[in-house]
Amino acid sequence: MRIAIASDHGGYETKEALKKALAGEEILDFGPDGAAPCDYPDYAQKVALAVAGGEADAGVLVCRTGIGMSMAANRFQNVRAALCASEEAAEVARRHNGANVLCIGADVTGAEEAAAIAKRFIATAEDADERHARRRAKLERAGRLSDASGLAKDDPEVFAAIKAQTLQEDTEINLIASENTSSRACREAAGSVLMNKYAEGYPGKRWYSGCLPVDAAEELARKRACELFGAEHANVQPHCGSAANMAVYFATIKPGDTILSMSLDQGGHLSHGSPVNFSGKIYNIVPYTVDRETETLDYDEIERLAMEVRPKILLSGASAYPRAIDFKRIREICDKAGCIMMVDMAHIAGLVAGGAHESPVPYADFTTTTTHKTLGGPRGGMVLCKEKWAKALDSAVFPGMQGGPLENIIAAKAVVFREWMSPAKKDYAQQIVKNCKAMCKVVQDRGYRIVSGGTDNHLFLVDVKKSKGITGKEAAAALDAAGIVVNKNTIPYDTESPFKTSGIRVGTASITTRGMKEAEAETIGGWIADVLDDISDEAVRERVRAGAKALATRFPVP
Ligand SMILES: *Cc1c(COP(=O)(O)O)cnc(C)c1O
Repeated sequence: MRIAIASDHGGYETKEALKKALAGEEILDFGPDGAAPCDYPDYAQKVALAVAGGEADAGVLVCRTGIGMSMAANRFQNVRAALCASEEAAEVARRHNGANVLCIGADVTGAEEAAAIAKRFIATAEDADERHARRRAKLERAGRLSDASGLAKDDPEVFAAIKAQTLQEDTEINLIASENTSSRACREAAGSVLMNKYAEGYPGKRWYSGCLPVDAAEELARKRACELFGAEHANVQPHCGSAANMAVYFATIKPGDTILSMSLDQGGHLSHGSPVNFSGKIYNIVPYTVDRETETLDYDEIERLAMEVRPKILLSGASAYPRAIDFKRIREICDKAGCIMMVDMAHIAGLVAGGAHESPVPYADFTTTTTHKTLGGPRGGMVLCKEKWAKALDSAVFPGMQGGPLENIIAAKAVVFREWMSPAKKDYAQQIVKNCKAMCKVVQDRGYRIVSGGTDNHLFLVDVKKSKGITGKEAAAALDAAGIVVNKNTIPYDTESPFKTSGIRVGTASITTRGMKEAEAETIGGWIADVLDDISDEAVRERVRAGAKALATRFPVP
């Protein structure tokens, strides 16, 4: 076992004795190398980081009482330091609490006893027992609040908002199709000191000094994005998905040029040319729709329109389209019409990364995305493109439309791209789709009309108007009161206003991140039907709310 060891001046003699006693192990001595006065937090930090980073399997810290060392070490993520004065305590700390750093009080425990304690500590393994595993997990999850606990004093009002969001995530079932739950690692990068840096420009070509650390982070993000999606070039600076789309328009076309895109009320996105959005104000937008009967994309019709209006850009991708998109077919249309192929994969980026939806990247000139939807990363945007567009794209983002990039968020993007390279993410992406199909089928079998008759991806749309004579607004409010969070959504050829709508949109990324599988998805589908069968039935809402809370508790968010 690799043991990181350190002390302060008061623990120096005992540390040296422990090194001899543990001679059979691989010892990493982090100092000090004499008994001159020094500060225990400096040495606790070295050992804590060695253990947290996996450089050491366990740590040993010694000071006069062991208290200062344990306090200092426990400030670090994934470190569980235990001050032990007996072999029994060492064994239990390891077995039950999963302690990975042993703290010894040199004035309390003699050198010989310290050696026996350390040996017992090292010889004991974590207990796999459910009770203890659950409690250890709770220790780690405390970070959801403890990471922000300084605000409890510094800014109680903001802390209250963070606490409320934490509680909401812990107790409700989130089915918002455009949301997900970020990992701790992602949040650590997003909240890091990298936010302090101005870095206008790109890695190696900045307008400010002192950019080496952020250059490293942004280069990682760019490289990993290209590797993950098989792209030739990546720009990771767009602040959001809308900005990513703006960057592509600015890089390629002029005001007044024609974009052929899916209209918002059919499942498209605001930034694809809605009249209230910059895109609709600057460019000539020709919308395509889904087929009235099948409620799916009619590629022949898109082709006919493309040949008729000869757009500069054919934009595909959507915010509320439950079916797979045939990117190969879109490419053929673009080639025939001689236009740029732009795909906005904001919603399905995670499915694409995990192989659960065909990738548009090999086909498209530009692929834009958000990084916070199925991809599950920080709130932000990104553009992938063919090498020949790289220069135009980069200058469109900076200096064209943005100033300094958010390097902390870019670092968080890098973290998430790396997470997606793990093989487990393939299963996760498939599971999102399996959960969606399972939930959708239950709702459908209970008599609800599903737009397009089903789903191929992470979301489905329920026509609550046709099914129960209620609006999407009413349905979403009833579900919200039952602890199930969805959003109202227009459905194709909706007769209700966008404010009321005939539909709700239901997505399974977030519950899948919590570890839920088909069985839980089916349970939730049943609850949705229970609540919507009679939205005035408060007893049902109460029952579902209690069930949702219990389920959420069983599947804690990361
Ligand atoms: C969510 C979404 C966006 C925009 O994302 P923001 O980060 O909110 O600007 C763009 N395109 C599509 C298809 C989306 O679903």
